[in-house]
Amino acid sequence: MRRAIVAAAFALLAFGGPAAADDYPSHPITMVVPFSAGGPTDALARILGKFMESKLGKSIVIENVTGAAGSIGVARVVHAAPDGYTVSIGHLGTHVANGAVYKLGYDLLTDLEPVVLLPSNPMIIVTKNAVPAKSLKELVDWIKAKPVPPTAGTAGAGSGSHIAGIYLENLTGVKLQFVPYRGTAPAMNDLIAGQIDLMVDQLSNSIAQVRAGTIRGYAVTDTARAQSAPDIPTADEAGLKGFHMTLWSGLWVPKGTPKDIVAKLNAAAVAAMNDPGVRKQLENQGLQVPPADKLSPEALGTWQKAEIAKWWPMIKAAHVEVK
Ligand code: ASP
Repeated sequence: MRRAIVAAAFALLAFGGPAAADDYPSHPITMVVPFSAGGPTDALARILGKFMESKLGKSIVIENVTGAAGSIGVARVVHAAPDGYTVSIGHLGTHVANGAVYKLGYDLLTDLEPVVLLPSNPMIIVTKNAVPAKSLKELVDWIKAKPVPPTAGTAGAGSGSHIAGIYLENLTGVKLQFVPYRGTAPAMNDLIAGQIDLMVDQLSNSIAQVRAGTIRGYAVTDTARAQSAPDIPTADEAGLKGFHMTLWSGLWVPKGTPKDIVAKLNAAAVAAMNDPGVRKQLENQGLQVPPADKLSPEALGTWQKAEIAKWWPMIKAAHVEVK
């Protein structure tokens, strides 16, 4: 009996068995971005991934697996080997809201292992330049006066931009006609070109365009103005009390990934967020690094659970349609 156990242990060692962290990573890691290249999630993945590579000693390859508000990209990671070589980057939309909108075929809490909470940013209400409104109040009046609802770009039903749009509808009583894209990068292109009327977008995606004057920014959904956009009022200041929404991001790996590998990924991401050069790039996009006590894998798990409890009732009550 004892011999058999020893033999089994040797066999495991010889053929790999569950991946161990000692030689991890021994080859490139794939980070799955569930939205289009050039969007806010993609940008965050590339900024952090670049620094994490230097810590881990192997490259991080970004793979954009888009569609269905990011749920297809997350599924790709859920079904990958639990060896730390396939990592899911996502956010409040993909890892919270999607569970209330889609029959996912996976469980956001039990089929993934949380790694680390990533920076967050508020949303910003933006329109194409041709919209005549000069303030949020004028914008709401303009929307209400339109015979057909204006078009609002989103990254799909259940994405951050969609949930934020529904939130705006609920608070103001306006109606929007949502136009789904594979990410807010292509939606932004259409907004700049005037093909759609507005977006409730992540600040990090819109800020450069607002600064450049290619789109108009009306209000940010935070309790204080963004340091990176001090001219834009908060929604509270602009007369829309209580429109608070922070879009946070995170990293996950498939369930069953060894704890020491999760710890290595966590340490690399934390080091990236603590690096002054990386921080500067993040802050320039209006992204805020979470406090140190929120950066453990367990803290992300607890936070994700709390966010599910907060957002699912509102999303389900809004009867978000998946077309
Ligand atoms: N974060 C998404 C993107 O990268 C957009 C969204 O959730 O609205 O395009």
